[in-house]
Amino acid sequence: MSAKSAPPPTPPAKPRASKRLDAADYDRLLSNFAAPIASLDCGRFCAPLNNGEPVCCTTSNAVPVLDRGEWNLLTARTDLWSRFKPKDAAGREVVREAGRLCVAAECKGAAFCERDNRSLSCRAFPFAPYIDRDGVFSAISYYHGFADRCWVISNLHIATPRYLREFFIAYDRLFARDHEEWLAHKDNSIAMRRVHSRRRHRFAIVTRDFAWKWVRPHGKGTVAIRDPAREMKAFGPYGTPAAYRAAVKDAGGQVSDKIVREVFARRASKD
Ligand code: SF4
Ligand code: SF4
Repeated sequence: MSAKSAPPPTPPAKPRASKRLDAADYDRLLSNFAAPIASLDCGRFCAPLNNGEPVCCTTSNAVPVLDRGEWNLLTARTDLWSRFKPKDAAGREVVREAGRLCVAAECKGAAFCERDNRSLSCRAFPFAPYIDRDGVFSAISYYHGFADRCWVISNLHIATPRYLREFFIAYDRLFARDHEEWLAHKDNSIAMRRVHSRRRHRFAIVTRDFAWKWVRPHGKGTVAIRDPAREMKAFGPYGTPAAYRAAVKDAGGQVSDKIVREVFARRASKD
């Protein structure tokens, strides 16, 4: 296995052989998925758009859903997590969908974050396993529904090989045991292709050899992205400094010139 690639994909569990991971399994899985996306605090870039809190750490944007084994592990070793208490119909739907096998949860907030006790979804976000048309977990994509708020989605190329490798290994382990998890991500990948085909848009994936590619709409295959920092799209407020300042103002936030410079520092100019 090359240091410049992740291991080949493990076949997903067959439905009849499927087993949920228990607390000990999650302990192993999470302790091997600890690398940050990159050596920077991206929460400083999206927080001015979200009342000063990182977008993915507020339940008004995303409610973490923990597998029962993961919940048992984390609640046995920290008081960071509690059950999510819905305040509206959408929240009640999240709890209902979590069902018996999972727990809709909330943490104490970004100021109290404990890196070692983050959930799998905290570690993965905004990236998502990409199951291709052959049913193979061949690449990593992202949750496009957050493109208007999440800075990382406008800077996907910052993800380090170490982070991507740990991501592949963690989800390989999960899918090798739990057919339902594989199925959920397969459905998510189908939805990703469908939405982008409808809009005639391509979207980015990163493969197991850490090469970035476009998935072209309507099943027209993939094509290499030669210069990700230059070619990949920046979304919404992250398109230009003026758009970012305007979005922060609209959100009632404030931002320093230094942060604005940092927000755009990792994107290459297109000219
Ligand atoms: S991953 Fe995205 S939403 Fe979460 S803190 Fe970083 S920029 Fe914000
Ligand atoms: S545990 Fe940390 S990373 Fe996860 S939602 Fe809470 S503050 Fe964010």
